[in-house]
Amino acid sequence: MTPSGARGTARPAPTAPHLNVAVVGGGPGGLYAAALLKRLDPSRNITVWERNAPHDTFGFGVVLSDETLGGIEHADPEVYTALKAEFVRWDDIDIVHRNTRHTSRGHGFAALGRRRLLEILHHRCRSLGVELRFRAEAPDPARLAETHDLVIAADGVHSTTRTAFADVFRPHITAHRCRYIWLAADFPFDAFRFEIAETEHGVMQLHGYPFSADASTVIVEMREEVWRAAGFDELDEAESVERCAKIFADALGGRPLRSNNSAWTTFRTVVNERWSHGNVVLLGDAAHTAHFSIGSGTKLAVEDALALAACLSEQPTLTDALDAYETERRPVVASTQRAARASLEWFENLALYLRQPPRQFAFNLLTRSRRVTHDN
Ligand SMILES: Cc1cc2nc3c(=O)[nH]c(=O)nc-3n(C[C@H](O)[C@H](O)[C@H](O)COP(=O)(O)OP(=O)(O)OC[C@H]3O[C@@H](n4cnc5c(N)ncnc54)[C@H](O)[C@@H]3O)c2cc1C
Repeated sequence: MTPSGARGTARPAPTAPHLNVAVVGGGPGGLYAAALLKRLDPSRNITVWERNAPHDTFGFGVVLSDETLGGIEHADPEVYTALKAEFVRWDDIDIVHRNTRHTSRGHGFAALGRRRLLEILHHRCRSLGVELRFRAEAPDPARLAETHDLVIAADGVHSTTRTAFADVFRPHITAHRCRYIWLAADFPFDAFRFEIAETEHGVMQLHGYPFSADASTVIVEMREEVWRAAGFDELDEAESVERCAKIFADALGGRPLRSNNSAWTTFRTVVNERWSHGNVVLLGDAAHTAHFSIGSGTKLAVEDALALAACLSEQPTLTDALDAYETERRPVVASTQRAARASLEWFENLALYLRQPPRQFAFNLLTRSRRVTHDN
């Protein structure tokens, strides 16, 4: 069966217990879903396919909210304890614009390295008896749907499962106007830092936050036309990294940046009209994305896993469980995506706000997603 002809080939959702579970993708969403489902019912056979090796991971730090951590603590204290030991916590947001720094206090963030998060989840999956297959491309989705009771498609923003059943999931994918690159610096910022650089080619911005005692995530972002005018399209990875470090030398205190298979990317917002088809269900970035400037991608994937595991335990049939999962998660995801869209559009149009006095500029940056208001 070819992926494009896959409509109707997902198995009807069975009423029997979902014992054989296939998870496509060993990112945070897929691994956490696998661990939770195995913990809730050790008789399940759960296999995770991950095309990369265990330690190949793009990117650096991820942010999780206290609300998500509460859900993790309740669902699996062991994972929570391991994560808690890794977290860096901080409260402030620094906005640096035209040599003026404004600090807004009392926000409350927690972050850790993506690699550590995945290691903790690998360990938890193994200790519970989940089969992890690394360097393994998942079988064709239609085939998995025939051979398993449940297929969890946690295969990320470029999900092949979503493409295979595109006529049912009906994805809408919007590419946005900025280019960004995900880098790191070997020192911890003491706040979430937004720094604006006005260059001869146009405006560029840095988003930085700590993810361990000695490292920070640094994302450099700019509009496509600025990126081209600055010649980034002709630089290789090492040259781009060096150039970004020069442009943001003040923010970095002159220290270098480093990359990890980092590439300039255009952010894509993914929305699907449906999240399940028979016994196949989308989870995490495969189902929805939210711009990194509100730091919610991993949070949403982990919360999807929590909701899916709870619905599978509570509902009498798989169909009921998958419907309940979508009903529970859709409004939360839609609200986060609205905030993320407002935030990404604000950064896309940053050049329009540069002349605002620094204090007003800082206030507008803080309230861009309309989640932070003057009062709070
Ligand atoms: C620049 C940037 C900054 C970000 N910052 C943050 C942040 O601060 N906080 C935050 O919460 N989130 C952040 N995110 C988002 C976050 O990385 C994702 O939202 C999150 O990883 C989603 O988890 P996931 O499990 O759904 O998918 P992914 O993490 O993308 O995992 C999918 C996995 O599936 C595997 N896979 C795909 N297809 C197959 C296949 N056919 N066979 C086998 N394996 C397959 C891939 O190799 C991958 O490992 C950021 C993203 C970017 C790009």
